[in-house]
Amino acid sequence: MKVFKFGGASVNSVDRIKNIKTILSQFNNEHLVIIISAIGKTTNALEKVVDAYFNNETEKSLRLFEEIKTQHNEFAKNLISENLNQCFLDLNDLFTEVEWLLHDKPVRHYDYYYDQIVSIGELLSTRIVSHYLNDVGVQNSWLDVRDIIRTDNNFRNAIVDWNTTKAKITNLNFNDHNRVFITQGFIGATDENENTTLGREGSDFSAAIFANGLNAESLTIWKDVEGVMNADPKQFPEAQLIPELNFEEAIEMAFYGAQVIHPKTIKPLQNKKIPLYVKCFFDASLKGTIIKEGSINNLPPIIIVKENQVLVNLRTKDFSFVGDKPMSFLYQLFDELKIKPNLIQTAAINVQICLDDNSEKIEELALKASEIFDVQVQKSLQLITIRHYTKKSIKDLLSNKNILLKQQSTTTIQALFL
Ligand code: ASP
Ligand code: MG
Repeated sequence: MKVFKFGGASVNSVDRIKNIKTILSQFNNEHLVIIISAIGKTTNALEKVVDAYFNNETEKSLRLFEEIKTQHNEFAKNLISENLNQCFLDLNDLFTEVEWLLHDKPVRHYDYYYDQIVSIGELLSTRIVSHYLNDVGVQNSWLDVRDIIRTDNNFRNAIVDWNTTKAKITNLNFNDHNRVFITQGFIGATDENENTTLGREGSDFSAAIFANGLNAESLTIWKDVEGVMNADPKQFPEAQLIPELNFEEAIEMAFYGAQVIHPKTIKPLQNKKIPLYVKCFFDASLKGTIIKEGSINNLPPIIIVKENQVLVNLRTKDFSFVGDKPMSFLYQLFDELKIKPNLIQTAAINVQICLDDNSEKIEELALKASEIFDVQVQKSLQLITIRHYTKKSIKDLLSNKNILLKQQSTTTIQALFL
């Protein structure tokens, strides 16, 4: 049993969806669970629908939603023949669900509506891919993941109820008629059948949940790149493929902001020692990257660049040491505001914190911290992290830079600059 995940970029054109069939034809005898994201940038488009709806701009929200409907109907028309009518009916059921909601006035909080509306992206894409594959002879069953992944009601960042979810996953019945299951990434449901989402880019995590629950032989994430690279090839043309990584390195990379895999993906796999393959969607014969248990030597320097960083400089007003009460006060604030600092450095009466630029949160942090600190905020900075740094990589990347903050361990160096 294998689990596959196809992201939004793997289904963002008719040709790419057809390519899924080409890939699957190499796994004719396997039991597969296939997790799929929303088509292309549909999630962003749906976020705009939610914003308009929540601002009481009903007309606008319906207009924006109409564009999404048209786009999905077009995909269906261009891909499906025999099952086209059934596909239109299935899509229509989903459209209607959202439109009913859009005609009502919002009375609950934003995150609730976000999840009810945004979750439709994955339901639509999987309906289309499932009908298409059935049409071209890859027999499969469409699963509504909301009947399987059970979560709490922490909308937009729902926490998975592992016991219930695992029990439901184990109930999946593979046989000759049910060799391939197609289902949605990113979404789940509460025990009151309200839609939930697991956090942006969460489909990798969904795939890992299935792999764990099914004790899968492996999880393969199909991407529009060759595999995991040691840097973003768009920024560093000389970036190289890393053929093998271990779980620990992968989780560190994700933690420092590498855009390879969603950070929550590794734990469910590591816990069951299930290998993760990151493979090229355009050429399945390429080896890609394998991420597994074990030790790995000779990794090249791994470079992670984060733009739009903010440096918050804090200094205790009364000259008390930050190591005493102020630090725990700060960590409580991070918890309360759901802030994840990218770098923290403390001195006697100073703390420097590097964060992603989320204006609202930073304003709130600055305001609350100003109870006991003098606060200064500096924006538009860049953070470079090099794992397994070498003299050369430090020279190439960090010399001639106006560095504001630097931190170095035996494996990792991080520098923040203008
Ligand atoms: N469609 C969702 C997103 O764009 C989930 C995912 O792609 O993993 O965030
Ligand atoms: Mg995606």
